[in-house]
Amino acid sequence: MSDFSNGLNEDQIQLQKWVHDFADKVVRPAAHEWDEREETPWPIIEEAATIGLYSLDFIASMFGDPTGISVPLVMEEMAWGDAGIGLAIFGTTLGVAGIFGNGTPEQIAEWVPQCFGTPEKIAVAAFCVSEADAGSDVSSMRTRAVYDEATDEWVLNGTKTWITNGGIADIHVVVASVEPDLKGRGQASFILPPGTKGLSQGQKFKKMGIRASHTAEVILEDVRVPGRMLLGGKDKLDARLARAREGLTGERSQAALSTFETTRPAVGAQAVGIARAAYEYSLDYAKERKQFGRAIIENQAIAFKLAQMRMYTDAARLLVWNASWRGASGKGFEAAEGSQSKLFAGETAVRVTDDAIQILGGAGYIRDHPVERWHRDAKIFTIFEGTSEIQQLVIARAISGLHIN
Ligand SMILES: Cc1cc2nc3c(=O)[nH]c(=O)nc-3n(C[C@H](O)[C@H](O)[C@H](O)COP(=O)(O)OP(=O)(O)OC[C@H]3O[C@@H](n4cnc5c(N)ncnc54)[C@H](O)[C@@H]3O)c2cc1C
Repeated sequence: MSDFSNGLNEDQIQLQKWVHDFADKVVRPAAHEWDEREETPWPIIEEAATIGLYSLDFIASMFGDPTGISVPLVMEEMAWGDAGIGLAIFGTTLGVAGIFGNGTPEQIAEWVPQCFGTPEKIAVAAFCVSEADAGSDVSSMRTRAVYDEATDEWVLNGTKTWITNGGIADIHVVVASVEPDLKGRGQASFILPPGTKGLSQGQKFKKMGIRASHTAEVILEDVRVPGRMLLGGKDKLDARLARAREGLTGERSQAALSTFETTRPAVGAQAVGIARAAYEYSLDYAKERKQFGRAIIENQAIAFKLAQMRMYTDAARLLVWNASWRGASGKGFEAAEGSQSKLFAGETAVRVTDDAIQILGGAGYIRDHPVERWHRDAKIFTIFEGTSEIQQLVIARAISGLHIN
């Protein structure tokens, strides 16, 4: 008897069908419109909330699956429908992960529900880390948080950039430098609740892809929040800073690295969803399209391309599932499997969508067909949540035990 299986259980099959149905009937038909409008698709987020797909309960049950497979299943199906709308719906989970990762149980209980709101009054959240001069190198962040002991308030100043849901979010989770000399080890996360004075949206960016997802600057000018908005609390921060000053930081940075390994497969799963969409579409097209008196798939040049597209997509999914399972089951990571999965899936999505355009020829290049949009959408997956180069750096460090630059 073998206890190995990567088959889905009954609950997972039902979950996959349910999300696929929403992606097929609601998300995909709306994808072109919201890509052109470059706006947050509020009516679709509302529809997702009405059926319970955008809700704290759903996210909690998805992340509660001990096999880890529910998260990538949901992410793949939504991105199969449309990655931009998928991010508009699930971008909130970035902020939620920031609260879960650093907050006390009381802070989690108070603020996570407010990230989702209710079907009648939707809320969204944002996670604000990146700055103009601090992208891959988060340690050079300039946004400052200074503690005002007299009022027990934190005062934040700085500008965050390329923030998903930035400025339109009800809850902004902001990472700021508390002790700049300590670089990355002197940073802390804060909750900025709805209506926070001094927080404003800067430039809203026009993007190449995932255009239904809002991306903007977040400007913080003398933002004052009560002391309790520091995630994890002041005692914990003070203890951590003291350890960092003494150079005793290995434990925390290991924990942070492991968190990234756990969240990256969910990003990889979205890339798998785009790749699968492009593969399926171009397979159908290649069977229909006739040139020289035969279907173009009857040429090895096209058929082999499709064979490779399928193989890369399936391989990416296996890496994603493996990493998700390692994270959720407590098996842990040996060779940065989370980064491997995100790297491979992101690169696969770019490659497969490029191949799909080639298979469609001229039709692939025009907006009557979705493959050019999928290619534009795919590219972000080699950039955000750690670029492909940074993923390789993480993997190289994990397998060598050396600080590769
Ligand atoms: C649509 C979109 C949404 C985003 N959403 C968010 C969000 O919600 N919250 C948030 O905080 N951020 C967000 N970001 C920012 C994103 O995380 C960063 O763009 C990303 O981390 C890369 O940083 P950078 O763009 O500054 O690139 P840079 O760090 O300037 O990198 C430029 C190039 O140099 C390479 N490079 C850098 N350092 C090294 C190195 N040591 N070795 C080898 N190569 C290296 C990179 O891989 C890349 O190819 C978003 C970005 C976009 C475009």
